[in-house]
Amino acid sequence: MNKDDFELAKEVIQKIQRAGFQAYFVGGAVRDYLLNQPINDIDIATSATPKEIQTIFEQVIPVGIEHGTVIVRYLNQSYEVTTFRSEKGYSDFRHPDQVEFVQSIYLDLSRRDFTMNAIALTSEGLFIDPFAGQEDLNNKLIRAVGKPVQRFHEDPLRILRAIRFVSQLNFELDRLTWHDMKATIALIEKLSIERVTIELDKLFSGQAVQKAIWYGYQSDLFKYLPIFKDNINLTNQLLVIEKPFNQLVDVFSYLYLSVDRTITIKQWCKTYRLANKELKKGELLVELVDQYERDGLTPWLVYRLPETLINSFIQLVEHFLGHSISKKQIIEIDHQLPIKNRQEIQLNGYDLVALYPNRPKGEWLKKYLQDIERGIIENKLINDKDRIKEWLLSCHPPEKN
Ligand code: ATP
Ligand code: MG
Repeated sequence: MNKDDFELAKEVIQKIQRAGFQAYFVGGAVRDYLLNQPINDIDIATSATPKEIQTIFEQVIPVGIEHGTVIVRYLNQSYEVTTFRSEKGYSDFRHPDQVEFVQSIYLDLSRRDFTMNAIALTSEGLFIDPFAGQEDLNNKLIRAVGKPVQRFHEDPLRILRAIRFVSQLNFELDRLTWHDMKATIALIEKLSIERVTIELDKLFSGQAVQKAIWYGYQSDLFKYLPIFKDNINLTNQLLVIEKPFNQLVDVFSYLYLSVDRTITIKQWCKTYRLANKELKKGELLVELVDQYERDGLTPWLVYRLPETLINSFIQLVEHFLGHSISKKQIIEIDHQLPIKNRQEIQLNGYDLVALYPNRPKGEWLKKYLQDIERGIIENKLINDKDRIKEWLLSCHPPEKN
């Protein structure tokens, strides 16, 4: 998203205003705009209720009506539109107890976590900044809105959010905010793991990850996170991390490789509720990094490395082994590969069965196909049906009967 998208989003705000309500840009979009950084998603706060928003726009997706949030689709873009609200706190540490819709942007801004996230912007370009968020932005400071200790009690996720913003923005923590984070850190344990995972993912992929980990360490954060709390070596290993990771499963893969192989990627992913797709990525990555350590950057390795995991692989090798591999190196090897995938092999399963008519189908089929695949990739075998047949019959003569 860029500044033109902001221009387009103004129309959404103006449409709400023409219907007689207030509407402002809020949250991360305003912060990132002020920081001249790319904008993720545009959040809009409004005095209109979700029902009223539904009458103003044709396409409204009710994602969290009870919390006052809907997604407005406008000219093929999505905007999260939330009714001004105040929160009574999160006594279950998962969901706000009760949201109360309010009529002023000021009250809405005061429920927000940090001063830099509590700035509203009008469609005319005026900032509403009751907590001096712009000043904190200029000073690169993360400061809780209101009394930090109280805000962290209401929702301890804010502690983790503060640390992930350190990582993403390379900011410092305001003194009192930091003091109160340390005092309330044990509340982290009460959070639902899904919320924690989202923040950890962002924390480990931020540019200032080293600083963020240091704050995490100093606040004892890791003593309250699953798996980390049972093995101090894991936390100690985090302290040597200097560069960001692509995604959370890469961090788990790194810890698996470098600290403790008894905690499997599956355990990490299940505990932190990562999707199966992530688990598969992690398992493949550790296999490939082990293979790299054994054999180097071979064609077989590059063949097995999906394009989507190239960056993760490079980073993991750098973190784990201190080797720097360039993407170019990998792509060059990839270009030389005789085939890109199994479907390109000139001999298929049916041909194999025909070649060994007296053999019942079984595991051998898979094994032979794998041998052929590897033979082709390693240039020991030409990808030609007859040549493959010859090769097979010479290594594995068919049984006679
Ligand atoms: P990102 O760029 O990662 O989306 P963000 O600041 O927009 O960062 P969101 O989670 O999208 O983060 O939240 C949008 C806004 O909602 C925040 O800027 C903040 O004002 C408010 N907010 C989000 N989570 C909390 C929370 N736990 N407590 C208080 N306010 C919050
Ligand atoms: Mg956001």
